[in-house]
Amino acid sequence: MVTAVVGANWGDEGKGKITDMLADEADIVIRFQGGANAGHTIKNQYGKFALHTLPSGVFHSSIMNIIGNGVAVSVPHIASELKDLTSRGVPEPKLMVSDRAQLVMSYHILFDTLEEARLAGKSFGSTKSGIAPFYSDKFAKIGIQVSELRDMDALREKVDGILEKKNVLLKHLYHHEELKTDDIMKELEEYKAILEPYVGDTSAYIRDALKQGKKALLEGQLGTMKDPDHGIYPMVTSSSTLAGYGAVGAGLPPREISRVIAVTKAYSSAVGAGEFVSEIFGDEAEELRRRGGDGGEYGATTGRPRRVGFYDAVASKYGCALQGATEAVLTVLDVLGYLDEIPVCTGYEIDGKVTDVFPTTTDLMKAKPVWEILPGWKCDITGIRKYEDLPENCRKYIEFIEEKIDCPIKMVSNGPAREDIILR
Ligand code: GDP
Repeated sequence: MVTAVVGANWGDEGKGKITDMLADEADIVIRFQGGANAGHTIKNQYGKFALHTLPSGVFHSSIMNIIGNGVAVSVPHIASELKDLTSRGVPEPKLMVSDRAQLVMSYHILFDTLEEARLAGKSFGSTKSGIAPFYSDKFAKIGIQVSELRDMDALREKVDGILEKKNVLLKHLYHHEELKTDDIMKELEEYKAILEPYVGDTSAYIRDALKQGKKALLEGQLGTMKDPDHGIYPMVTSSSTLAGYGAVGAGLPPREISRVIAVTKAYSSAVGAGEFVSEIFGDEAEELRRRGGDGGEYGATTGRPRRVGFYDAVASKYGCALQGATEAVLTVLDVLGYLDEIPVCTGYEIDGKVTDVFPTTTDLMKAKPVWEILPGWKCDITGIRKYEDLPENCRKYIEFIEEKIDCPIKMVSNGPAREDIILR
């Protein structure tokens, strides 16, 4: 049986905490897409960790953590995160990296950085982790698969070919120094040495484990709005953020994914550019940003202030539907305790017509939020463990959202710690 934990919004919904919690019951935790461009924040008995590459099961020594074939593998991140864990007392985790996954190379990061600089004011707000150049190369069939590290001679020939193309762009578009095969081969030798103990046929491992009745957890990164097909294209990420992609990015049978948990935050936040209908500005935004998350809404990867807004039920309903959510988790609800009234965006007005259907980007650009105002609960709800003990207005807020997003909210998170969770 496979459970997927995925984002219903723009990412940063608090998926890390939910995966860490559910990892307790899993035998395998799998990353299936994305790379080091986003981060989960996990707080547990060992401390507070920002994981960008390693699956959230690394804190449980019984769990097999898998970096699936769909992931953009950043070897320096794997090495530094492993070192950070063990130096802070976490037992050596069990880790496997797919031999069909591909490597994020230093030149992917270079191209990401150069392109963002070239686009200047029109940039995508990339985290400059090399993700777009990485996936472009993968689909242009000039990516480097982990398995190719087994034949360094053949790889050298391939790298010569890759650099022939890259150097034209570097020289003529970016006016940058050209790359040398020797340097790239040295980088690949380093990656090979670091990865060697972990490389394997992860898809076969997962399929075998599932046959034996083991439980796997798919750990999504970012959220529906960042999906390249179904999100706010072009301000999206370069790999699918949907639970359905878990089957592809981990190499497991789609029918096994029977539980899809969409994580949705009690207000909205987004990093980078792109449409964000329920965004708020000025002092109102500054206060929410400061009080938000755990220590403010600032990116886990970049430290950038996140854009914030009130809950967008239109985007979240779509977000849950596209994930195929069997249930939702409403997170960071504790943060809203300071508000007298809480607006919820329940419709978009586009060309004078109100809709609750999330449109394509062209229409989204014209959308204005339609608000419904709910009364606040004006108290701190952290520490409450039973749903019935929540203030009435807080329960009404949850139930209002549940109806609007058309998905049962089975868990409510009311604090950053693992135990701050209310099951319904
Ligand atoms: P992810 O990418 O979806 O895993 O999201 P993040 O790791 O960026 O999580 C968002 C932030 O919210 C982190 O700093 C978490 O510690 C914090 N967080 C998660 N759940 C809650 C919650 O219920 N209340 C509060 N106050 N913070 C939370």
